[in-house]
Amino acid sequence: MSTQPVMNTYTRLSVAFDHGQGCWLFDTDGNKYLDALSGIAVCGLGHAHPAVTTAISEQASHLIHTSNLYTIPNQERLAERLTQISGMDNVFFGNSGAEANEAAIKIARKYGHSKDIETPTIIVFDGSFHGRTMATLSATGNRSAQAGFEPLVSGFVRAPYDDVDAVKNIIANNSNVVAILVEPIQGEGGIIIPADDYLNQLRDICDANDLLLMLDEVQTGNGRTGTYFAYQQKGILPDVVTTAKGLGNGVPIGACLARGKAAEVFVPGNHGSTYGGNPLCCAAALAVVNTITDEKLAQRAAELGDKIAEGFRAQLGDASYVKEIRHQGLLLAIELTEAGTELAVLCKVKGVLLNITGGGKVVRMLPPLIMSDTEAELLVNTVSRIIKVYMADE
Ligand SMILES: *Cc1c(COP(=O)(O)O)cnc(C)c1O
Repeated sequence: MSTQPVMNTYTRLSVAFDHGQGCWLFDTDGNKYLDALSGIAVCGLGHAHPAVTTAISEQASHLIHTSNLYTIPNQERLAERLTQISGMDNVFFGNSGAEANEAAIKIARKYGHSKDIETPTIIVFDGSFHGRTMATLSATGNRSAQAGFEPLVSGFVRAPYDDVDAVKNIIANNSNVVAILVEPIQGEGGIIIPADDYLNQLRDICDANDLLLMLDEVQTGNGRTGTYFAYQQKGILPDVVTTAKGLGNGVPIGACLARGKAAEVFVPGNHGSTYGGNPLCCAAALAVVNTITDEKLAQRAAELGDKIAEGFRAQLGDASYVKEIRHQGLLLAIELTEAGTELAVLCKVKGVLLNITGGGKVVRMLPPLIMSDTEAELLVNTVSRIIKVYMADE
């Protein structure tokens, strides 16, 4: 039996950080690390960003929490900014990505019931990740994450990712389908980038069948892929979009944005959250959103992502053990031909933080949007060298 007081749910690396500055983290022994993971796409503005620090400290000295029983001006300001940026109509605030997706799932179900569909069903995808609550776990397309937690929540039907015909087939045979929930790029699945017109085709299918197109931008949102939201590169609008990770730069916040008919589904009493959208997290998120837009950090992500990918291609593009190097903005992946699970540890030892996804074969990097060219070069050179030595030695 475990004797640890913290429940045994994570495999952790043996390092603890004391503080951070920009793209750097400093451990409790004083060693420094280039952070190419950003707390899993959370700290897009890096660590100890002055705009976020100031917003949090000022708000904390004023008022942290009141509850959603009262008007929260910061929440209204943040909702206004997010709807302006996204083209959506309104927002529900929770505290995480999973909660944002729970709100989306509830909107889809109630939308279905409003059309007299008694068992509303949502199309979800192989390889997807939507969170760890029971409904979002059931929507997630990863059997190993679900195993042992049955019975799963019903009302989801699964299709292969990046396969429009499969979606059309399901809809043709299932009159209970009310929505499609999809990541514009699969993050946890290994940075899987679908065909250029995939989202556009899903949009058309939803329009033709009166379904809600619900995009999970928990990981892709907040500037990371080169636009504030990834769908903005496709010239479409979803009916629902969820985001979290990069929105609070580490202060827990999630948002479910809705448009048109989807924006009118919830009425008082339908959904709620005690902390959701409280004065503190909204102050932090406002500072984040304004910094991303004022400093054009989405454009910076696009430009720097291209540069980093080009650097990796120059150093590893010809290697027999590299299957593919792919990226969209600062969602970057080096897919290996075989498992490289130890690479995260080897990189940590050499002072670079990243992680491995996609069944152990995908080296994933999600650097802060504020990374400098010099830091990016250091990242490319260090990680390329480590991969070369490790893969050649095997
Ligand atoms: C991380 C993630 C989630 C879950 O977010 P939590 O804040 O951990 O609940 C959901 N969807 C996607 C695409 C994610 O990357």
